[in-house]
Amino acid sequence: MSTPRIAFIGAGNMAASLIGGLRAKGVDAERIVASDPGAEQRAKVSAEHGIQVLGDNAEAVKDADIVVLSIKPQVMKAVCQALAPSLQPGQLVVSIAAGITCASLAAWLGPRPIVRCMPNTPALVGQGASGLFANAEVSATQRQQAGELLAAVGIALWLDDEKLIDAVTAVSGSGPAYFFLLMEAMTAAGEKLGLPRETAEQLTLQTALGAARMAVSSDVDAAELRRRVTSPNGTTEAAIKTFQAGGFEALVQQALNAADRRSAELA
Ligand code: NAD
Repeated sequence: MSTPRIAFIGAGNMAASLIGGLRAKGVDAERIVASDPGAEQRAKVSAEHGIQVLGDNAEAVKDADIVVLSIKPQVMKAVCQALAPSLQPGQLVVSIAAGITCASLAAWLGPRPIVRCMPNTPALVGQGASGLFANAEVSATQRQQAGELLAAVGIALWLDDEKLIDAVTAVSGSGPAYFFLLMEAMTAAGEKLGLPRETAEQLTLQTALGAARMAVSSDVDAAELRRRVTSPNGTTEAAIKTFQAGGFEALVQQALNAADRRSAELA
């Protein structure tokens, strides 16, 4: 399969990280174009990634196989309606905007192949997790191309029901903030136990990173890894029992339910 030509509408943070990921994977700069109304942003992304960044969305999509809508949800309708006459029937549209359904996109752009995805902020450091949904017009080749596009900045997992995008939002879309919250709380608790703040913070961050690396590379699940480091009557057990007595698992479920509901309300 030849590398598709990709046009990014909006050259902000997410687009720049995807472009960086694609370039790092060896995608030729000639295959990528972007457009953005901000002159400074255009110059920055162009200089950083060696790609052409235009000021005109219609011009950017001209020869593209894939059009990535990497603009804020608030401007999506207006941008899509203005762009619709310039799109070719077979061009794949990939939207990374939160809360915009395939049906809304099809209403603004006309019926066409559309992939909707929910990435997350660690994509900015190449460690993203995305859930993707393809509408019925998307071909097998386009599905593969969209998967490879998102996989340039992390993992990309397909969903067979668009509604599950809300669950993805609750788990991985909003998920980095849950881990940041735990990091904040552990750092503060470590400081209260007498550690210098910086030491507590470094220990917390490295522990999070180490635990994540272990969990990702292990062939057993997180529950088993936890059991293996929890000796009877030991220090870890004392802490875990305290978490569980406070209803930790139920609280996590409630928190994710709240994010899932909010995501559905926003769509
Ligand atoms: P951003 O503000 O960094 O980038 C948006 C860019 O769009 C800006 O550079 C802006 O100048 C440009 N823009 C505005 N109007 C435009 C127009 N008419 N035509 C072309 N470009 C235009 O935002 P971001 O963080 O990159 O987010 C982009 C999308 O990604 C959003 O829809 C957001 O919901 C989604 N998303 C972001 C994250 C994240 O972690 N940042 C996570 C999941 C989804």
